[in-house]
Amino acid sequence: MPAANKVTVIEKAKPTAASKLAANLAKLGLRTDMDLALHLPMRYVDETQITPIQQAALQGGHMVQVEGLVTACDVQYKPRRQLVVTLADDSSQLVLRFLNFYGSQITQLAVGTRVRARAELRHGFFGSEMVHPEYKVVNENAPLPTQLTPVYPSGVGVSQASLRREIRAAMLRINWQDTLPADLRAQFDLIEFAEAVKVLHNPPANVDEYSLEDRSHPAWQRMKFDELLAQQLSLQRAQFSRRSKSAPSLACVGEVSNAFLMGLPFALTSAQQRVLSEIRTDISAAHPMQRLLQGDVGSGKTIVAALAAAQAIDSGYQAVLMAPTEILADQHFRKIAAWLEPLGISVVWLTGSLKKKEKQTAREQIEAGTAQLVIGTHALLQDEVKFARLGLVIVDEQHRFGVDQRLTLRNKGNGTDTINKLIPHQLMMSATPIPRTLAMTYYADLEISVIDELPPGRTPIMTRVIDQERRSEVIARVSVAAADGRQIYWVCPLIEESEALQLQTATDTYLMLQEALPDLQIGLVHGRMKPTEKQAVMANFIAGITHLLVATTVIEVGVDVPNASLMVIEHAERFGLSQLHQLRGRVGRGTAASVCLLLYQAPLGGIAKQRLMMMRSSTDGFEIARKDLEIRGPGEFLGARQAGQAMLRFADLENDQWLVEQARGLAQTLLQNLLPNSPEIVAAHLLRWMNHKEEYLRV
Ligand code: ADP
Ligand code: MG
Repeated sequence: MPAANKVTVIEKAKPTAASKLAANLAKLGLRTDMDLALHLPMRYVDETQITPIQQAALQGGHMVQVEGLVTACDVQYKPRRQLVVTLADDSSQLVLRFLNFYGSQITQLAVGTRVRARAELRHGFFGSEMVHPEYKVVNENAPLPTQLTPVYPSGVGVSQASLRREIRAAMLRINWQDTLPADLRAQFDLIEFAEAVKVLHNPPANVDEYSLEDRSHPAWQRMKFDELLAQQLSLQRAQFSRRSKSAPSLACVGEVSNAFLMGLPFALTSAQQRVLSEIRTDISAAHPMQRLLQGDVGSGKTIVAALAAAQAIDSGYQAVLMAPTEILADQHFRKIAAWLEPLGISVVWLTGSLKKKEKQTAREQIEAGTAQLVIGTHALLQDEVKFARLGLVIVDEQHRFGVDQRLTLRNKGNGTDTINKLIPHQLMMSATPIPRTLAMTYYADLEISVIDELPPGRTPIMTRVIDQERRSEVIARVSVAAADGRQIYWVCPLIEESEALQLQTATDTYLMLQEALPDLQIGLVHGRMKPTEKQAVMANFIAGITHLLVATTVIEVGVDVPNASLMVIEHAERFGLSQLHQLRGRVGRGTAASVCLLLYQAPLGGIAKQRLMMMRSSTDGFEIARKDLEIRGPGEFLGARQAGQAMLRFADLENDQWLVEQARGLAQTLLQNLLPNSPEIVAAHLLRWMNHKEEYLRV
């Protein structure tokens, strides 16, 4: 971003039209000539033909372009102030109506002026008319464009006209040299880069418009292939470079690991055993592990992570576990400390809520190396936190963190060891399964372990979708569940626009339930509470003192209270699929049969209905994630931060699967230097497509 900042500073000193435009273009990510050339149209308009007005009137309802002379131009005041222009050609006449207009337009559209206008034609009370047409004043016999006119994604302060002008100028300056030699283009059936870009900016009038729209045109295919190839090249390079780095070998499965395993009240499932051995092999090696541990909510990822940490400690290194919320970090700490402290391991806790003095002590222990396992939140990322001998970094609910944050934590290792530059192993955990296609492209530099089995004795969660009009029945059910000694979550609606309103709703719900269920102990937890208050509320719920916990989405991730077996989610239609799945995963953790009630407000929109039906029919996180991906698309699914700069602009992972495979194969061939000039091709291609964006992929 420094380039953009610089432009802004200059602009403040002396704003010129050109520097303002440059700054606005930079906001769209358009800084270099190549950026501009690769800023491709999202659609086109056809200005290549003039339709006689009479014929246009017969067609009606379509975009048409007409040309004629102005025969009247008046400002009318009924029913409101508007500019009404009559335009006539040899065949007929029509009205151009402007409900908003500038004074200058009255003179511009004076009687006798020749005008070309484009819009949808409507049949008004006074005959055919166009409302707010695009128009321009032309001379008689002014030539028509022979190509479709591009419409670009634009932004504040950047008009279509200025984009067209800047792009045209940039295309005169760029180096069109193809990054792929002719034999490769022939092999993959690709047209030339220059031709592809030019066609997409200015398609000839006779082009198959549908193939532009659905991006099956050879010009689009070339763009997508190039983009995917660049991505695959940089991902595979990142993988090579990771394998060439050193990490401490955490090979000792010793006293701590064994005593820990022996002391567990349950046996690991076979899926847990499998992923544990995958992790053990990886962290025993002298190259940094980068592994994602996926497993549905409740599948038992924490214990696997703790066992990996035990191995790091056995091997004489420190481990750190970072979680996205205080509640979750607190829960991990209680659980893991209860497992490890009896074995003489020092487990240290570091979050923002600690007192200054306590933080200081924790940091000292971390830096001295006496803290063997450190558990905390974002507070771990602060500069002052330094590790003596960090061997393993564990990030829980990894999708909640940005790429940069994970990088920061990883770089905290081995304060004094500047000679060997050892990089710690990294284990990320997530219950949001990433479908294979996404994993392959975004996470090519990531090993994946999957826990595909739930611990025994769980009964599936039954999900019901209920109109909120029937709230009283729901409250009655809560009362019965509590009388049975079970615990209940009541999740308040998500209000994205306003945190204050969300808080208000949570408090109202809490008061309403207190009134309706006077015999129950009810707790309330929300994001605005002080961490210590939250901890107290959660502790009461965990201890079984509170029957019913009213909560905002702060309980979404990770919270584990096995005795809770009824979940009520209000306004379930406002939540995304993955979020609902995460929330529902708070129940079904013990042996009691669990129920999830999704309250909705009628009427339901199409997508909301699809989501709720999906929730009712499936408890499989992978299936739900696939559906979610289908509904939301990969960008939103991963979140912009996750995808970093690596987002694909042109290719579509679902539809272009075969292109992904081809690009992957070619990337491999090139990186193994199997073709003449491989290194030059790789360098040229990455320079063109990745520019400075590659860093993000290295994490
Ligand atoms: P998640 O994968 O969602 O993070 P947790 O690690 O919180 O799940 O585990 C969910 C619950 O299952 C915890 O109470 C944990 O102690 C328990 N658990 C984990 N593994 C097993 C197992 N093999 N047998 C029985 N219970 C288990
Ligand atoms: Mg968890």
